[in-house]
Amino acid sequence: YYDANTFLYLNGKFVKASEASTDLYSQSLHYGYAVFEGIKSYHTHNGTRIFKAREHYERLKRSAELMHIPFPYEVDDLIRQTYKLLEKNNFKDAYIRPLVYCGPHMTLSPGAEVSILICAWEWGAYLGCTLQKACISSYQRPNPKSTHIEAKASGHYINSILATTEAKAKGFDEAILLDMNGHVAEASGANIFIEKNGKLYTPALGHILPGITRTTVIRLCKTLDIECIEKQITVDELKAADSAFFCGTAAEIAGIASIDETVFPSLWTETIGATIQRTYKALVLEKQNYEVII
Ligand code: PMP
Repeated sequence: YYDANTFLYLNGKFVKASEASTDLYSQSLHYGYAVFEGIKSYHTHNGTRIFKAREHYERLKRSAELMHIPFPYEVDDLIRQTYKLLEKNNFKDAYIRPLVYCGPHMTLSPGAEVSILICAWEWGAYLGCTLQKACISSYQRPNPKSTHIEAKASGHYINSILATTEAKAKGFDEAILLDMNGHVAEASGANIFIEKNGKLYTPALGHILPGITRTTVIRLCKTLDIECIEKQITVDELKAADSAFFCGTAAEIAGIASIDETVFPSLWTETIGATIQRTYKALVLEKQNYEVII
């Protein structure tokens, strides 16, 4: 991800990775009490562009608020510093990881000290070509009554790591987690859409991370005149779908070949997902100005 000379942004300064340090008594390290984002930049014909930078930093701020973590930062400034960070490292297609973490504090109440790290690494445009083999996880997403599931909090990802580990051990690429009521929620790090009879469906908000890509897909559907419905989805409905895809900043739009032993009948290239994938690619690469439409 980095070498000693990679620049990081740490609490208002650009520092080399080899010179950066943190406190081992950090509450975040011990309890997973931190919030973060995953953002992508693309090398476009308009230069390096961070896709939905404002939406990501606004969600970081909201995640911090929900978790009672101080957020003494300005979104506009963070966007500016992120562009500077990419420039200093000469990154164009990159993955950007801002993390707001807490200082030394060993009790279970929020501490006052907070730090912000923004790191990035080069990530060539992928825009998924391989179809994913997914399974239904034996792990549920965390109950929204035990945490603020709409926050992108570090501790939530223990659940994602367990689900991914189980899926890989069984020979699958990705896990689909159900919510506490047994409805389809999301993947370990992506939201999910299914296609049935020419319409798209995606799990309603409440038990999932409100993905920025998910919102982009819903808006693209309006632009493309595709009906997209947010509702509770059962495992039976998921397995009876014509096709399905994951979406997320890192996953972008990734088609799903199968779930457990059930193979989707549609040829991926003929699905709504494939159309969304092409449109999303044009959008992030600014090949077509969809922003004015959505
Ligand atoms: N769900 C989870 C659990 C995630 O970690 C992510 C990735 N941030 C997503 C959904 C997709 O969110 P986004 O489109 O904002 O990247």
